[in-house]
Amino acid sequence: MAEKNWAGNYEYRAASLARPRSVEELRDLVLGAPAVRALGSRHSFNDLADTPGLLVSTADLPGGIRIDETARTVTVGGGVRYGDLAQGLQEAGWALHNLASLPHISVAGAIATATHGSGDRNGNLATAVSGLRILDGTGELVDLRRGDEGFDGAVVGLGALGVVTEVTLDIRPTYDARQRLFGGVPWEAVLGRFDEVTSAAYSVSLFTTWDEPAVSLAWLKELDGVELLIGDDFFGAPALTEPRHMIPTMDVRNTTEQLGVVGPWSERLAHFRFAFTPSNGEEIQSEYLVPRPRAVEAIEAVRRLAPVVAPLLQISEIRTVAADELWLSSAYETDVVGLHFTWVRDQEGVEAVLPQLEAELLPLGARPHWGKLFVDRDRVVPTLYPRLADFAALAERFDPAGRFRNPYLTRLLG
Ligand SMILES: Cc1cc2nc3c(=O)[nH]c(=O)nc-3n(C[C@H](O)[C@H](O)[C@H](O)COP(=O)(O)OP(=O)(O)OC[C@H]3O[C@@H](n4cnc5c(N)ncnc54)[C@H](O)[C@@H]3O)c2cc1C
Repeated sequence: MAEKNWAGNYEYRAASLARPRSVEELRDLVLGAPAVRALGSRHSFNDLADTPGLLVSTADLPGGIRIDETARTVTVGGGVRYGDLAQGLQEAGWALHNLASLPHISVAGAIATATHGSGDRNGNLATAVSGLRILDGTGELVDLRRGDEGFDGAVVGLGALGVVTEVTLDIRPTYDARQRLFGGVPWEAVLGRFDEVTSAAYSVSLFTTWDEPAVSLAWLKELDGVELLIGDDFFGAPALTEPRHMIPTMDVRNTTEQLGVVGPWSERLAHFRFAFTPSNGEEIQSEYLVPRPRAVEAIEAVRRLAPVVAPLLQISEIRTVAADELWLSSAYETDVVGLHFTWVRDQEGVEAVLPQLEAELLPLGARPHWGKLFVDRDRVVPTLYPRLADFAALAERFDPAGRFRNPYLTRLLG
């Protein structure tokens, strides 16, 4: 089977790939396979989704977008992509609290890895989950609601409990937002006034290559109807008057509308437009979520490594995510700052640099993004995830025969 992930840096080793069209078909496939994994939209960068056995794509499973206005929730098929969900919600007058940089990812795949957007007070996408329906390793369909025993462990589930066939998410009435970009934020402001910088809007992203005299871009998402905290000057950086892609060589038409033009949340919260290619495509990504109190130290450490990092880098993004209670969330019990790296697609070169980065960041308590490339697997556990043993027990309960186990999970859970 010569199937690759979206970025093309990882070729799945699975023996075969199936595309079930119903939950009954999915159940037969799961029960017939000693080793099986759910495959979402393939936007992760490592072997997390892989299996030596059968990959089951969720793309053709029943989707549907069911809004419960009284409960303020929406229920969707796990394979539904955020772009389709956002459009459906917006048309019905509803919204999510946040989106990742791209709307192309599947809902179940995103929450399985604690995918996040940005904002000091915004939890990652998994924090919006209030219910899950999981086809477990015994072929049972299990419903879990927020507050149920095990729920906090199951949401960021790494595909270890089974196939998530339905996800219920909190929604709120629709809202409008705008994006403004500022060019050249002095490092002194970022390092010396970090809290003021990241709290200056609903969501603040800083883009840099680390070796530059100032952070090249600040990308602010501001809610319409909320007083602007920033004028045309962002800590010394002027507001840009032309739209920009965060990777200077890429086409700006791929990005969502900027220059302060107000529009629906569904067309502003992601950086990239649903109908276009996100990011570059020819790339590898890594990300480390650093506990907020250590963020400035972490940023300084990466700046010191700029001579080895920058030559392999397309762009880095610094974002903030609010703490949560989900056992395997990268923001478990602490506000975090994401230091993200979009590398050129040079697997060997990137893997040679990551140990140096990780030697600086992991001792600060940084948690690698589950779906992106990292190398020092041994230090990821268990100090970074105090509930890891509970998670292993939960996975065993849902999947006693270990169908959903793969080498990645075995490295993690033992
Ligand atoms: C261009 C680009 C931009 C990105 N931007 C961001 C960002 O802004 N923020 C961020 O945090 N991450 C970001 N990511 C990473 C991405 O969000 C994660 O890798 C996410 O897991 C991708 O979802 P997917 O559906 O493609 O999952 P896949 O790669 O298909 O699978 C990932 C994991 O989810 C599991 N899974 C998938 N579907 C199910 C299911 N139905 N039931 C159970 N388990 C399931 C798989 O088994 C696997 O373990 C980005 C990635 C790319 C390529």
